[in-house]
Amino acid sequence: MPSNEPKLTVVGAGLVGSLLSLYLARRGHTVEVLERRPDMRRETLDAGRSINLAISTRGLHALRQVGLEEEALKHAIPMRGRVIHPVKGELAYQPYGKDDSQHINSLSRGWLNQFLMTQAEATGRVSIRFRQRVTQADVSAGTLTVLDETTGETREVRDTVVFGTDGSGSAVRQALQPQATQEPLGHGYKELTIPPGPGGSFQMEKHALHIWPRGAFMLIALPNEDGSFTCTLFLPWKGPLSFASLETPAALEAFFQEQFPDAKALIPGLVEEFFARPTGHMVTVKCAPWRVGGRTLLLGDAAHAMVPFYGQGMNCGFEDCVVLDALLAKQQDWEAAFQTFEALRKTNADAIADMAVENFIEMRDSTGDPRFLLEKGVEKV
Ligand code: FAD
Repeated sequence: MPSNEPKLTVVGAGLVGSLLSLYLARRGHTVEVLERRPDMRRETLDAGRSINLAISTRGLHALRQVGLEEEALKHAIPMRGRVIHPVKGELAYQPYGKDDSQHINSLSRGWLNQFLMTQAEATGRVSIRFRQRVTQADVSAGTLTVLDETTGETREVRDTVVFGTDGSGSAVRQALQPQATQEPLGHGYKELTIPPGPGGSFQMEKHALHIWPRGAFMLIALPNEDGSFTCTLFLPWKGPLSFASLETPAALEAFFQEQFPDAKALIPGLVEEFFARPTGHMVTVKCAPWRVGGRTLLLGDAAHAMVPFYGQGMNCGFEDCVVLDALLAKQQDWEAAFQTFEALRKTNADAIADMAVENFIEMRDSTGDPRFLLEKGVEKV
């Protein structure tokens, strides 16, 4: 490592920050990661964002570069197509590709995040400090104000290169450009559980992403390793059929009975989970620039949060790590690398974010349309 090696600080030990710190460590850098939450390997965290997610070629490629794909795939469940659940009648199966090799994978977010943190620390060059919330950033000077949430004390980290991987509500982005566009979706989401059947069996087709398309709203379910499925209900915030209209257990049960009768029969904790769990927000973030000189760079959701309907938010953030790593392999000049990174990634990220919004319409609506099913050569299951 050169003697003038700058101090590197990654803000956020989520999926992208953890993988990024591993990539940086493999280039010989020493990295400090500041994470506002407690260590999820030691403490159970409150239910937050999606329990599982779909990892596809883009994300797997990023894991392969650092030798982690094989282990990740051991914990993943291939989803080879979509199973469409109508209100009444037969289920329909839409394969994702021409054969079973073309599939996406359902993977536990918690497992993946913990795995990446452990792998980063195992390099001996990454130290993750938990309960450390960045409250302010001077992005030109490379100064971070950090609140230690255990002691309540505030300190400053000075003269550092800052990688902002602190998610869609990024404090680093806020310092860089307070005017960044955030487009909230008019829908929120709620997670519900279909538990495993007898002996840990799957109560629906295991190797599929399940969709209950209903036009203005939809339910989806992804399989978990233990035989359960995590369902996500996407519903408008306001209106006649919305989170606002489902205020009582009776209203919720009647809604599920009318719209998702087969799912209702499989979710014994419907009322308890619905009223106990938080309702999540979804947002598209488009902003520029993502960088200040060679001092600060945004990656992952901090740079380009997108709605989840294309299943590409994390995948895209993982690809950020691959692209930055390839640029750093060619040059040690941080400023030049950051500039090229943004030029390469911004257009792609914006395009994927737009496709994610478009795919919401396909998933919640067209997947259940008989003309669409005919076009896609849908089979009955
Ligand atoms: P995050 O995962 O948000 O991590 C940010 C980290 O920074 C967190 O650990 C947070 O605690 C920490 N942090 C935040 N602020 C501070 C601060 N001020 N100081 C210190 N630390 C801080 N993507 C896919 O690819 N496939 C999917 O199937 C998929 N499904 C999804 C389903 C849902 C319902 C949602 C909401 C998203 C889904 N996504 C999916 C998107 C995916 O979750 C995100 O793109 C991904 O989590 C982005 O990772 P990140 O590390 O950039 O941000």
